[in-house]
Amino acid sequence: MARPSRILTLIASALIFNALHAQDTLFARQIICTLASPAMYGRGMQHRGDSIAADFLRKELSAYGLKPLAKNYFQYFRFPRTTTRPPIVQAGYRSQNVCAYLPGESDSMIVFTAHYEHLGMHGDTIFYGAHDNASGTAAVLDLARALSTQKHHYTYVFLFFGGEEAGLVGSSYFADVPLVKLDNVKLLINLDLFCGGDEGLMVVNAHDERTSPYVDLLEGINDEHRFAAKIARRKNAPNSDHYPFTSLCPAVFIYTLGGRYGGYHSPLDRCEDCGLEHYSNFNMLLHTFLNRLEK
Ligand SMILES: [Zn+2]
Repeated sequence: MARPSRILTLIASALIFNALHAQDTLFARQIICTLASPAMYGRGMQHRGDSIAADFLRKELSAYGLKPLAKNYFQYFRFPRTTTRPPIVQAGYRSQNVCAYLPGESDSMIVFTAHYEHLGMHGDTIFYGAHDNASGTAAVLDLARALSTQKHHYTYVFLFFGGEEAGLVGSSYFADVPLVKLDNVKLLINLDLFCGGDEGLMVVNAHDERTSPYVDLLEGINDEHRFAAKIARRKNAPNSDHYPFTSLCPAVFIYTLGGRYGGYHSPLDRCEDCGLEHYSNFNMLLHTFLNRLEK
């Protein structure tokens, strides 16, 4: 039988674990509900919802003490051509990527990315985009917030892209005009579609010889701790913002499998329907992964 002091320690650590669990999930919920609120108009070009969301992210990053990679954290870009399917955006429309970093002891970088914009509005209907991709944006913001409280070996970079839904416009622009030396990127992790996850996580571009050792590490950690039901692998696809980087640095895209979310590219993709039951476990999986890389 364990001694009373040992039992108390176990109870205390269980309480602390539960408190942390509640805290990061609560943080994610607040961020997702803010980004997916009517005040952001679906984060598209209507009412400049994309810029309202970008400004919100800038203020958050600044509050955590992260350094800007460009003036006011914004890398501006213009849409090179008028889109032919929704979201309809005119050539020349100006949007922005929101770019921050946390200097480490080394120039070697770990980059997290997520697109913060969404489809905007069709007539009076708002496409809220909680799952796509307020959820991934919240997860990357949560990592930025947590990592900012400690010193690290690696330099951490956080990129929030605009123009994803119209064809990876913001991420392609960053890959063409990078604000960091992409040769120094050890790994880029893109998060998109991060609600739910009852069936675990999918890693896209997992079979590349430069990325597969990292996916092995992620899977090894998950075998030990069971943070996710499974870690599945796909070959590369141009389905999110990792894609413009895949010829330039090791880059993967992680999304959730199964579980609860309101809809996909539908006005039903709302904050209250974004399942965050596994969020804290996925967050711990990523932190454990980063701790192993730091060693
Ligand atoms: Zn998306």
